[in-house]
Amino acid sequence: MNRTEIANWLRETRPKRLAELWHLADETRRKNVGDGVFLRGLIELSNHCRRRCLYCGIRADNGTVTRYRMTPNEVVETAILAKKLGYGTVVIQSGEDFSYSKESIAEIIERVKNETDIIVTLSLGERPEEDWLAWKKAGANRYLLRFETSSPALYRAIHPSAKTVTSIEVGDRLTMLKTLREIGYEIGSGVMTGLPGQSWDDLAADISLFGELALDMIGCGPFLPHPQTPIGKYFPPNPKTGLCTFGELSEPQKTFCAEAGIPMLDPAEQVVCDAELPFKVIALTRLVCPKANIPSTTAIATVDPVSGRKLGLSRGANVIMPNLTPTQYRKLYSIYPNKAASTQSAEETDQMARQHILEIGRFPR
Ligand code: SAH
Repeated sequence: MNRTEIANWLRETRPKRLAELWHLADETRRKNVGDGVFLRGLIELSNHCRRRCLYCGIRADNGTVTRYRMTPNEVVETAILAKKLGYGTVVIQSGEDFSYSKESIAEIIERVKNETDIIVTLSLGERPEEDWLAWKKAGANRYLLRFETSSPALYRAIHPSAKTVTSIEVGDRLTMLKTLREIGYEIGSGVMTGLPGQSWDDLAADISLFGELALDMIGCGPFLPHPQTPIGKYFPPNPKTGLCTFGELSEPQKTFCAEAGIPMLDPAEQVVCDAELPFKVIALTRLVCPKANIPSTTAIATVDPVSGRKLGLSRGANVIMPNLTPTQYRKLYSIYPNKAASTQSAEETDQMARQHILEIGRFPR
């Protein structure tokens, strides 16, 4: 499928045509990766972050966040719980928190491996290559690093440099993904949909790029504006859906975009994320990357807690990442508001995920 075809599908609204897309994606999923749904336990290690991403609630400049760090013991205990619940993989995710040294993360990985022999996926942001090498040696298996958008102008605008951080080019993240693969990790990436300044063509290019990068995992979700971030302040969420709304740009929005360098698009070009777009992105990603592991993400479950996850699984996805973070920390890892399952225990989250999978006639793996 070429970029124009992808862009046409993204803009498609006729229910009959969309039903065809869902069917095609579901068939492709079934033939290539089967009916099993991989459960991957998410552990949110720390909400400290040195970066200033204009969309993210735990950005360094957000002084209203209560910051936390999990101790190595807490991480190991959570991994043991994941193993007990039958998970094959844990995903350790975090803000870019350099108070965890190369050695301390390596030690956590070694302990998790020794005690559970579970597959370890890391999502710790940009780190020096030597850290990634050490963690691979310690037993880590996979690394997730979303490239967020393939538009260089938009990427640069929403990832301003911080005092200690200079990488603000999407190309840098693409190079990092290549490096991670060379080190021996399975790699995952993805984007957000509905960022201000993101065009339909950009999003089609993102999906094409998934195919070119031959990713093992691809996670995408709606952009959910966070009121305590620069973008969320100028582009507040629709109170009902949590999604970003767009019309003709207001004067304050224009000034903000001009200062930040966010492309100002004609309304017809601007991606508007409605209830269906995240599923179109999953379905098209499945068609472009038939064998990839594609999660029905937490952001999708946040927009529609009752059926979002199940719809994602029925329209191309084959992975769910239940949040196993200890309850007292969950609501503090607030990258966007009202994150799904932020008051549950790990057991409750696990039960709900399994129930969703069984309700649609699939089985957990
Ligand atoms: N520091 C790590 C992990 C980031 S959090 C890293 O940089 O890789 C994981 C993902 O959450 C991000 O890659 C981003 O795509 C997504 N995210 C952040 N803020 C968001 C928001 N407001 N709405 C939707 N998704 C968001």
